[in-house]
Amino acid sequence: METIQVSVVTPDGLVYSGDAELVVVKTTEGELGIKAKHIPLVSPLAAGPARFIRDGQEDQVAVSGGFIEVRPDQVSILAEAAERPEQINVDRAEKAKDRAETRLNDAAGHIDKKRAEAALYRAVTRLDVAKKK
Ligand code: ATP
Repeated sequence: METIQVSVVTPDGLVYSGDAELVVVKTTEGELGIKAKHIPLVSPLAAGPARFIRDGQEDQVAVSGGFIEVRPDQVSILAEAAERPEQINVDRAEKAKDRAETRLNDAAGHIDKKRAEAALYRAVTRLDVAKKK
């Protein structure tokens, strides 16, 4: 099957590159699946796993928001933060998840709900992707 070139870049550098038959990302509007010859587009990303599928094999990268740029032969993910499974510190992500849940459950506190939710989604994404190690 035809493949598309993919790269995931953060402010710290290149996290992932390869060729995929199918790319699946989580945009702010929902899941987006991309194959070769997709129409060009730019979209903001939500926190979620980016999935790269080829020959029945799947690589995943935990993406914490940013943008995706799709061109017919190339997909570029510009992420605020992104980690491959082996880069993820599970203990740190579990603690971040607990902190976010505590904030969200704190009925009396004047918390920034959106911020706590975003932290929770980042942590859950990392824990999901870490399982692909
Ligand atoms: P924490 O509360 O643990 O800092 P966070 O979601 O606020 O988590 P981010 O602001 O998304 O963290 O990321 C800051 C930097 O730390 C990024 O470079 C990101 O790749 C890295 N990072 C965050 N959490 C983890 C983790 N569990 N394992 C490895 N790297 C992580």
